[in-house]
Amino acid sequence: MASEVIDAGEKGNLCRVCGTFVANKGNLRRHFEDRHAVETVEYVCPDPGCGHVSFSKNSFRTHIFRKHPQYRGIKISNFARQLDVVQ
Ligand SMILES: [Zn+2]
Ligand SMILES: [Zn+2]
Repeated sequence: MASEVIDAGEKGNLCRVCGTFVANKGNLRRHFEDRHAVETVEYVCPDPGCGHVSFSKNSFRTHIFRKHPQYRGIKISNFARQLDVVQ
């Protein structure tokens, strides 16, 4: 039980998405990957004049297919950008 006590005097690592306190920074990254994997990646349209950003792979794929047929052959993961949510 005592080991469960959080040392409030020490600056912890708060999850910036859900506010969960994670004592260990390595665990915080794992917490993000487990709980918020979808929210930590965004897909950025490669077209300089467009600026479209999507958090959903499916809607991004739809955007490319409808608006930019020239990018259709490129893997969606090439447009993924990791959000820097862990300080
Ligand atoms: Zn969280
Ligand atoms: Zn676009």
